[in-house]
Amino acid sequence: MPQPSWKVNEIFYSIQGEGRHTGMPAVFVRLAGCSMNCPFCDTKYAARDGKTMSAPELLAALSAWPAKAAIITGGEPTEQDLPALIDVLKQAGYQVHLETNGAKDTDVSQADFVCVSPKKYVSAEMLKKADVIKIVVGQDTDLDDLQKYYAYENAHTQIYLQPESNKQENIDLCVKLLKNHPAARLSLQMHKLANIR
Ligand code: SF4
Repeated sequence: MPQPSWKVNEIFYSIQGEGRHTGMPAVFVRLAGCSMNCPFCDTKYAARDGKTMSAPELLAALSAWPAKAAIITGGEPTEQDLPALIDVLKQAGYQVHLETNGAKDTDVSQADFVCVSPKKYVSAEMLKKADVIKIVVGQDTDLDDLQKYYAYENAHTQIYLQPESNKQENIDLCVKLLKNHPAARLSLQMHKLANIR
């Protein structure tokens, strides 16, 4: 039986800069490829370039660092064999966090934390599986869409509003929206503000 492998854009050790786990040291596994092509994408390089890695190669790369938390991001992780990757990392003792656009319904039941950040379209099933629904808010954001996402809030799922590109006008808009919907939270891209790589 062929062993699973993944096209990986980069693996690096840093600090989670966004959302509920801001400040947590973790190894980032950035998978290559994303078919969404958002105009504001800040990881366009990951849509193109990647190196094929097997499970042993991936785990060997991750073992260079002491953290036992791994954040799978992209590109878009659900465009590859994500359940197998989560399984490999869990079996190696990692706490596994996932960042996805949620467009494709995928088995993420083994992940410890799932952040869905909807873009042009999103699967309702993935929204139900999210621990956090992270909405990127810019001046072009259709604010009526927010009501649709608020409907998924419950004891398990929380909404975070993240100002696009940390721009002040978008921060101001998020603060205004949050004051009208206090169950949600603000997510700033702390790693960019603090120049952390
Ligand atoms: S879904 Fe995410 S990774 Fe894909 S193009 Fe959009 S912002 Fe970039």
